Amino acid sequence: MTMEDIFASFGDIFGDAFGGLGGFGGFGGGRTRQRVNKGSNLRVKVKLNLQEIAKGAEKKIKVNKYVSCSQCGGSGAADSNSYSTCSTCRGSGQVTRVTNTLLGQMQSTSTCPTCGGEGKIITKKCNACYGEGIVKAQEIIKINIPAGVGKGMQMTINGKGNAARRGGVPGDLIVVIDEENHPQLIREGKDLIYNLFISVPEAILGTNVEIPTVESKVKIKIDQGTQPGKILRLRGKGLPEINGYGKGDLLVNINVWIPKKTTTEEQKLLEKMMNSDSFTPKPGKDDKGFFERMKSYFE
Ligand SMILES: [Zn+2]
Ligand SMILES: [Zn+2]
Repeated sequence: MTMEDIFASFGDIFGDAFGGLGGFGGFGGGRTRQRVNKGSNLRVKVKLNLQEIAKGAEKKIKVNKYVSCSQCGGSGAADSNSYSTCSTCRGSGQVTRVTNTLLGQMQSTSTCPTCGGEGKIITKKCNACYGEGIVKAQEIIKINIPAGVGKGMQMTINGKGNAARRGGVPGDLIVVIDEENHPQLIREGKDLIYNLFISVPEAILGTNVEIPTVESKVKIKIDQGTQPGKILRLRGKGLPEINGYGKGDLLVNINVWIPKKTTTEEQKLLEKMMNSDSFTPKPGKDDKGFFERMKSYFE
């Protein structure tokens, strides 16, 4: 193998790489590239009750985080005279390394290790933050949470995370939504479910009952001869959609409570009813079974 052969085979490999480096070296020497510090993101959990989810909420939360040092304005220097130009990079923030290779000199440019790309060195550090430009503090952050949010949803609040060292870009605050269970209402997406228990006589004779909603209570009529498992739909009494279009419903699931213990007197009464014609089951077309009810509910 001759020298020409060696270069020829290397040529393919290095050809592109050198083209790239040449261009890089061209601008790398003169331009000062400022390295930007970025603060880290913070995550907080915010628990909302059903009323807050229904209406939207303004929450004030206490966050332990890094904030910009107020004494030095985040620079980390004691004052404006506490700087000197970095001697390693002579202020450019970059260092150029020249390596001798078989093919000649190879230039590579990287961030100056002495000043971290800033081009200057702090000669006298701020005594409040020890030159970091950030200090630990507790901040109260106001968050506006829209109506209709749900457990596990995340909101990103730009720039409210940890401040960055020496005047960089702060991170984001990520708010994770959590839900408090309502004592009576069960959430199912934008709909709410209430399990109503009525007595056997109430189911037979009909009654008026109070139903809890998110805001207050509403009175509803239970018809005479109501079958257990009937679902009443109170339109618009559910939760708003997060996009602002429409509202869910409140579904009242009617259960008929069967007593587990009865007195001798009650038993005598029930035995009389058992033998009467009205109490003999005669399911009609409207008396749907469980699956038919579920089907009609989802239609
Ligand atoms: Zn400071
Ligand atoms: Zn430097």
